Amino acid sequence: MKQIAVFCDFDGTITEKDNIINIMKHFAPKEWEKLKDDVLAQRISIREGVGKMFALLPSNLKEDIIEFAKEHGKIRDGFQPFVDFLKAEHISLYIVSGGIDFFVHPILEPFGPFEAIYCNASDFTSETIQILWPHTCDEQCTNDCGCCKPSIIRTLDGDQLFKVVIGDSITDLEAAKQADYVIARDLLLEKCQELGLPHSPFNTFYDCVETIKSLSGVRT
Ligand SMILES: [Mg+2]
Ligand SMILES: [Zn+2]
Repeated sequence: MKQIAVFCDFDGTITEKDNIINIMKHFAPKEWEKLKDDVLAQRISIREGVGKMFALLPSNLKEDIIEFAKEHGKIRDGFQPFVDFLKAEHISLYIVSGGIDFFVHPILEPFGPFEAIYCNASDFTSETIQILWPHTCDEQCTNDCGCCKPSIIRTLDGDQLFKVVIGDSITDLEAAKQADYVIARDLLLEKCQELGLPHSPFNTFYDCVETIKSLSGVRT
């Protein structure tokens, strides 16, 4: 039997809201909204859009942004029990996030450690914040994702793992297509239904625990 591995999105999944949107609303000048609209309309890539949004913010805001993100990054119910459950079952939990290290790590810190946290990185040595991209798309992805979730899954894969992807949004779709099973909410849920991907819906991480129990045949 294959070993289950869980790949979990961060923004809108572990946190209830999207942290980048929250941060931009609070700190950025108006121009960020056009960049957001261009990303959503797929006129520019996620990587280009996120890079340009953060370039609107002075580097000296770093600590203020971290404090703001920690304060407003409300965690979805059941996340800690979910992490504990996976640990007890020896199921690896990989966080795959299009967020940025300097706020993703502080928000997650109380709940870890995790098998790995994949996200974008940041550089505060220039006047404005520069985003770095340690996990760009491999040759099989032409999306210019920024943090490329399907590429990350491919590096870990082998055919040894039963891959469960948890997410909420269109940015999880390519990863969901690679998964053996998807746990989805919001737009990703609609897409799973539309494409007939094997999936369950979730609202809280208690739902995710139940679904994974049903997949692994664990009995309480
Ligand atoms: Mg998300
Ligand atoms: Zn990609």
